[in-house]
Amino acid sequence: MGTRDILMDSRWETSYAAKRRIQLLLNGDLGLHLYRQHQPEFFAFVVYGTDNLAHKFWKYYRPRDFGISEEEAAPFADALTGYYREADRILGEFLELLPQDTTVAVVSDHGFGSAEEAREATVDLETKPRMEPLVRLAGIQDQVSVSSVATRGYVTPFGDARASTTLTKYFLGFLDGVRSPDNDLPVFFGRPIANGMIEVSVRHDAPPLGLLSTPAGPVELTELVEIEERAGSHSPEGILLLRGPGVRANHTVPEMHLEDLCPTLLHLAGIPFADDMDGRVLLDCLLPESLPFRRAVSSYDHLLPRRDHDFAEEDPEMLESQLRQLGYLR
Ligand SMILES: [Zn+2]
Repeated sequence: MGTRDILMDSRWETSYAAKRRIQLLLNGDLGLHLYRQHQPEFFAFVVYGTDNLAHKFWKYYRPRDFGISEEEAAPFADALTGYYREADRILGEFLELLPQDTTVAVVSDHGFGSAEEAREATVDLETKPRMEPLVRLAGIQDQVSVSSVATRGYVTPFGDARASTTLTKYFLGFLDGVRSPDNDLPVFFGRPIANGMIEVSVRHDAPPLGLLSTPAGPVELTELVEIEERAGSHSPEGILLLRGPGVRANHTVPEMHLEDLCPTLLHLAGIPFADDMDGRVLLDCLLPESLPFRRAVSSYDHLLPRRDHDFAEEDPEMLESQLRQLGYLR
């Protein structure tokens, strides 16, 4: 499709796929430029569109799993694989730049499957707050601007810091009052973030449909929450590809877990792992003679920036269910 055809095509898939591709090309150029300029000891390049596109386009990649005809899938059948090819081409450009003795790891934090294939690890519905109706209902539409990124909404109050603090307090209270009559739980999760902004997301345990009670009276959930069916879901099997002087060639890792990545990558970088890490160094894929084994340190926690969100304070059951929904736990 040419640029003009893309701009004229009214299907959301066309512009969605085009935007993700443009984002990848820009990020690739920028990443390559930064690497050339600084040649750091450690460098990470994150490709996020594989996830975004898989959520939306998996049904065109595996049309049979969704009862879609090949014909119907044809216009977008290549969107996901084409994106992977582009990401692979960028990886190739990086590999050409890197010194011979560089360790390269290609990793993913999860895999993908058709919703049924991904078994329990399914996220069938994607929910996002409808920001304009939400601030209108709260009666603050003239005092804020709103925006959305992926499944999160953002509110930026106008005015000075004091007015914005008052408004933030009011709006968070309002959000807390938007509840499902079924279980009386808040539907939204709101929190102040940097620059006086408020971030809003839909709680994972929010009911998919129904009438909500709000401080401004009952409102249908779909008026405040956009619900989109997902065409593909995270599965717990991700990928790990390793190359480098300390890596055993042509070796398949028999079994590993996501938690093993961090200690293994630290070890390959010549940095000790920490005793309080859940994973282990994947020794069987490394060449022992090329890497001296380092004693673990007790913890790196003191190096972490202070988090404004402490997971330890969250309800462990809810946290577990969220991680399961995201495909990180079975
Ligand atoms: Zn995802």
